Amino acid sequence: MLPYIELATNNYQEIISDCNGAYCVYCLQKPIITEDSIIEITDISTVICPLCNVDAIVPASKVENFKQLALWHELGFGLDSLKKQLESILYSIKKNNLINVCI
Ligand SMILES: [Zn+2]
Repeated sequence: MLPYIELATNNYQEIISDCNGAYCVYCLQKPIITEDSIIEITDISTVICPLCNVDAIVPASKVENFKQLALWHELGFGLDSLKKQLESILYSIKKNNLINVCI
């Protein structure tokens, strides 16, 4: 079983009570999920990512660092998918001039 599946399943309570927020293993972003936000739920209480519509949200406190999140993505969705997500993150960073990226 994938190491993050338990964290990503029926996790609504854990997600909204994590003061550090949540990360999405699929899009590798940090969607804002609170009791007041309108989010989709599947299974019993599995949170669906509002940014990418994939049910791969984990409580941020359970993620050690970005490397771990990227590794989980690779295990769950494959290396090609990971490369694509990283490219799209870099693209949006460059597009929005959030930081200066030299590649
Ligand atoms: Zn997502």
